[in-house]
Amino acid sequence: MQRLRIAVDTPAHAGLADALDYLSTEHLPPGTLVRVPLGRRDVPGLVWDAPADPGADGDAADPEGFALRPVTEALTSLAPLPAAWRQLVAFCARYYQRSLGEVALAVLPPELRKLDDAGLAKRLRLHDKRAAAAARPDGAPAPARPPLTPEQHTVLAAVDMAGQACHLLHGVTGSGKTEVYLRLAEAALDAGRQALILVPEINLTPQLEARFAARFPGRRLVSLHSALTPAQRLAHWLAAHRGQADIVLGTRLAVFCPLPRPGLIVVDEEHDPSYKQQDGARYSARDLAVYRGKLEQVPVVLGSATPSLETWQHAQVGRYRLLTMAERVGQGPLPQVRVVDMRQQPRPAPGEPPPALSAPVQAALEACIARGEQALLFLNRRGFAPVLQCGACGWKSGCPHCSAWRVFHKLDRTLRCHHCAFTERVPRACPDCGNLDILPLGRGTEKLQEQVAELLHTVLRPDGSPARVARIDADTTRLKGTLETQLAAVHAGEVDVLVGTQMVTKGHDFRRVTLVVAVDPDGALFTADFRAPERLFATLMQAAGRAGRDAGVARHAEMWIQTANPEHALFTALRAHDYARFADSQLREREMAGLPPFAHLALLRAEARDAAVAEAFLRAARERARALAEAMGVADSLTLYAPVPPHVARVAGQERRQMLVESASRAVLQRLLAPWAAEMPALRQQHRGIVRWAVDVDPASI
Ligand code: ADP
Ligand code: ZN
Ligand code: ZN
Repeated sequence: MQRLRIAVDTPAHAGLADALDYLSTEHLPPGTLVRVPLGRRDVPGLVWDAPADPGADGDAADPEGFALRPVTEALTSLAPLPAAWRQLVAFCARYYQRSLGEVALAVLPPELRKLDDAGLAKRLRLHDKRAAAAARPDGAPAPARPPLTPEQHTVLAAVDMAGQACHLLHGVTGSGKTEVYLRLAEAALDAGRQALILVPEINLTPQLEARFAARFPGRRLVSLHSALTPAQRLAHWLAAHRGQADIVLGTRLAVFCPLPRPGLIVVDEEHDPSYKQQDGARYSARDLAVYRGKLEQVPVVLGSATPSLETWQHAQVGRYRLLTMAERVGQGPLPQVRVVDMRQQPRPAPGEPPPALSAPVQAALEACIARGEQALLFLNRRGFAPVLQCGACGWKSGCPHCSAWRVFHKLDRTLRCHHCAFTERVPRACPDCGNLDILPLGRGTEKLQEQVAELLHTVLRPDGSPARVARIDADTTRLKGTLETQLAAVHAGEVDVLVGTQMVTKGHDFRRVTLVVAVDPDGALFTADFRAPERLFATLMQAAGRAGRDAGVARHAEMWIQTANPEHALFTALRAHDYARFADSQLREREMAGLPPFAHLALLRAEARDAAVAEAFLRAARERARALAEAMGVADSLTLYAPVPPHVARVAGQERRQMLVESASRAVLQRLLAPWAAEMPALRQQHRGIVRWAVDVDPASI
């Protein structure tokens, strides 16, 4: 009998050890998937390592004297997970304050956790049979590759494929970053290695997948994202882990995909907030990708037109190598950015709502349609109106479970909470006073679409037919496949004006768009979240990048911004397409305010039915943090803020509170977090009523 330490999924909150000791009759190398008894259940686990003190041979009790239980079954059909994979998981668990087993098992395909060894062996045989049937004979004609632009050439020459540097590829939209990824992947594949390409959005994977598949016809390419069926996800993951897939393309969870011979890691749109996991282990896939590059000793390329300020700062101080592509390929210049001062627009008649589009924007839109080109109207608020209001008593459509308004959706006449999804039919009359006159306040994409269609009903296209207005947002794309159909309609020229949320600004290569309008971007200028300007700038730059992507129409390309703050520095930098100027001014502000990347943050979040309970828990936690920091002699390098409500304080009937911990030193912050988080289960016991708590390291927003 041998003793083994096995990682099982016990949440850190339960306060159990990271890995538990079990007995095994056979030698099982670290990384072997097993099934073990835990309480009365049989759960999956991973052999982590031999115990530090293996004890006498046959020692069958744990330190408390409980008899150790044997491993139920070892899934030896599967090769053990590689050492670098285990190191990545261990780092993730440690850094983001979760248990080892929780992270290790959460990042495996759910289907894998259900199988026994016989079931797994059967799957593997089936996959091998399918792969053999699908294999294409070699000498598939070599696909055409465009000759590189001088900038692409310089960039590619600067990446040492045998090295392990982290690079920032700062390239304007349309500068040909994807072609760079393709060439880097080619180099990795030629060296017999695998390439891992991360993208922020599931919606963008089919596009990119098609480009990679066309470039590497004889190679196996798999995708990994949450829209796959469990069986597909397992099949793709196995293909990567067994070295059968040469290219793995996926969203943030793919950063944990085991690869026996990694050669390259690319993180496209590295600034995108969706790389940060928002529950469980709140990891940043971008940051883990950089860490993984070091572990696996492979080059990492972070690509973006608007890098995150953290990444930009690393590139400025030389921690990352900065690679720049400033020119668009075979396309016109970037669109001219024009700002409309909404304060100067004529006031609407009394009782009339302000028009969606200002006069100059309306004129630009009509001209665009008359030229037979396409326009994109961007508004980051879905639904018809963000709130309904009673004209008589002032009642508003609040959510009974959240501190938020319910949004009016006109199509199905519902009021929907975008935080807890509570949905009801729109009341016929005001629930408070019975007045029949309840009115939508403000404007979402649904209303914008309606207003624009009305505005354009007499505007004709060059062939004399009426202009066609379509909308793409989370509501119109709920059903599988609908987004693809709608995007295809835009690409096919069946749409003249596309109204949409952030969704339409991302990555799409619309060839005939020459007008982009940010209808109402001001909301993001003055929020409490210090990252809001950075996000808005990235979104607007990306939106601008949708215009003039075809040289034939680029000379008309314009982006219009409707704002009541035309002198804001953000818009000035945008007009000059000057990311560096914007980033530098933001970095100066962050440095003065002691914010990331000059400080490191962690949030302790707590939820309870009763706000007072959440606050008391956090106050006690703050006292514990203070005591720990003093005991460690680091109290001076830590700031422990008082508990505050977040932006939306009540969600689904739970009161949320959070407290911020800040330090100029990441190491000091990490030293505090580990013992502090370990005290939470006991602290929670003392504060009955705490429903949930979580430590969020490097939070995406505060
Ligand atoms: P980005 O990802 O930087 O926004 P893309 O990689 O999508 O840019 O490239 C923009 C367009 O330019 C695409 O249509 C692409 O096919 C084309 N392109 C990229 N590199 C070249 C090249 N070297 N020669 C010709 N066309 C290119
Ligand atoms: Zn009323
Ligand atoms: Zn709600």
